[in-house]
Amino acid sequence: VTAVDDEYESAWQRLAPGALHRTRPLSAIDAYLREPETACALAELERSGEYPRGLLSDLRELSLAELLVPERAASPELGTLNAMLARHSGSLAITVGVNALALLPVYLSGTDTQRELVTRRLRAGAAASLLLTEREHGSNLLRNQATAWADGDGFVLDGAKQLINGGTEHEILVALLRTRPRAAGAPAAATAAFRDFTLFLVERRPGVVPLARHATLPARAADISGVRLDGARVGGQAVIGRVGEGFALVQKTLMISRGGICALASGAASGALRIALDYARERAIYRGPIVEMGAIAEHLVRMAALDVVVAAAAVKAAFAANRFGSGAGHLGAAAKYACCRFAEEAVTEGRYVLGAQALLEDGPYPRFVRDVLLYGVFDGTSHVLLDQLSPALLRQDPPQGSTLEAVREIYGTPPRPLVQAALEPWRPYAPALAPRCAELARASGSEAVAALAGLAQTLAAVGRAAKESGSWDADQALRFEAAALLAELEALLAACELALPECRRVLGLDERARIGAGTTGDADADHAAAEYAVEWLGGRIAYRLRELARAAGPKAEAETAAEAWRAHSAVDAHDRLRAYVREG
Ligand SMILES: Cc1cc2nc3c(=O)[nH]c(=O)nc-3n(C[C@H](O)[C@H](O)[C@H](O)COP(=O)(O)OP(=O)(O)OC[C@H]3O[C@@H](n4cnc5c(N)ncnc54)[C@H](O)[C@@H]3O)c2cc1C
Repeated sequence: VTAVDDEYESAWQRLAPGALHRTRPLSAIDAYLREPETACALAELERSGEYPRGLLSDLRELSLAELLVPERAASPELGTLNAMLARHSGSLAITVGVNALALLPVYLSGTDTQRELVTRRLRAGAAASLLLTEREHGSNLLRNQATAWADGDGFVLDGAKQLINGGTEHEILVALLRTRPRAAGAPAAATAAFRDFTLFLVERRPGVVPLARHATLPARAADISGVRLDGARVGGQAVIGRVGEGFALVQKTLMISRGGICALASGAASGALRIALDYARERAIYRGPIVEMGAIAEHLVRMAALDVVVAAAAVKAAFAANRFGSGAGHLGAAAKYACCRFAEEAVTEGRYVLGAQALLEDGPYPRFVRDVLLYGVFDGTSHVLLDQLSPALLRQDPPQGSTLEAVREIYGTPPRPLVQAALEPWRPYAPALAPRCAELARASGSEAVAALAGLAQTLAAVGRAAKESGSWDADQALRFEAAALLAELEALLAACELALPECRRVLGLDERARIGAGTTGDADADHAAAEYAVEWLGGRIAYRLRELARAAGPKAEAETAAEAWRAHSAVDAHDRLRAYVREG
């Protein structure tokens, strides 16, 4: 088994409007990642677990910093970068990816001086880290204790942050710190507590002490460590935004950054698929290659379908953040849940194809098996995302007027600096899913999208019935399952929007997604993958919806009995996808 790659373009690269991977410096980085020497260096990295100093220095030579400086950093380009890197190595991808995550508060609310400082430091080779997590408090940031107490015209910082990507190696630290003591007896989630925190831009200095690295199952070579603040002093100019705005700014940051994690998941799914396809077409233990065995071909068919769904949802999240800034938070959260979940499934399907080869450390596959597990855990665990999504399911109002224009804007807005996207007036983009599907189905004539409209409508009705019966409020598992179905349907809708020619036409995109050299069949394969995904995953959603309704009470069950869902048949798409995985 060799590492990727040739001229093959990944699902992200084929589906993302504008073919950004062919523009500099992304094209140079893509070419570098495909070199055999880079593959060897990445393999060595997995073996040694050492921080990827040499690779980072090569990437800097290729102008990596220019993608991150505040005057340029744009979510479609950053997503393209993440997907590109994660297709080869999770360790390298998260080591680079954490820069944009950490700097988002500076892009969104930094002063000119802070942006200039960051630009200078990035161009000089520095990297950034985001210091949110404290080991004792995990996902509940409002319980955090590390502090910044006002002292003269500055602050004194104390406390420990753990599980920090770049905690010992990165020089620019963006830290969420308590600037107001927790009110005695106040519940952790009290609204007043939101104003207890402030974000600080801190450079390494006396009193900033690195903590030991953790050995991690995924991203072995990344520097997952910690930082102890031991009376470090910073001036008032270190505050990002205003004192007391830190928690809100973190929320806004996460609304954008989650699209970046989707891109990592997309890179992992595409990298795993490429290895599994090559292996199945070459490995011959009976008469012909193993891809000719039906069971192996079916693993690859499912993988190819998942790859397109993950890429489409990830592309949509990145382009929605480009258009709406933090207002795209709902789509980002839905996409993060679905992309991470489906990428895990894709990598598992590939593991079945590779057999023992998937488990041998001298090949490239095991790193995907390990790395993909991370994406659903950091930047908000999947549970945290479902917690955020479930109220949205009930809140979804019917849209005012046509929904198609906003989708055209998402895909049609050229990459623009996040600094500029952040200036958009606060306008959360979260229109109800069912009418969006129904309108696109009408305009495009797509039966696949019509099937999604039926499922989305039934889901909304089951949610309302569950609320009425009391089961919604009583049962978190039920709410989370409903939110998971919502997220998966959103991902399937994105796949239809970006991979079905009839939808692309309606949305103002070239009728066929871009196809790269030597991959002439892939646009058709993407089309087949989206059609098949709606049949396969849509059928699975329909089944889960019935189970959900049963748990939600008789009225909800009646909704699924009267279901608007009609199974979408994609026999032809399945056959085309079968032919594609066999022959390319
Ligand atoms: C490799 C790696 C890199 C990381 N990088 C960074 C970084 O750079 N900066 C940083 O600040 N942090 C980082 N983290 C920390 C990461 O963001 C946290 O691990 C994550 O927020 C989850 O915290 P926890 O693991 O302590 O889980 P906990 O919060 O303790 O949760 C335990 C379990 O409860 C679930 N849960 C939590 N809330 C709910 C809820 N409301 N309803 C239902 N279930 C819930 C969780 O999903 C989990 O299954 C990193 C972690 C890893 C593993």
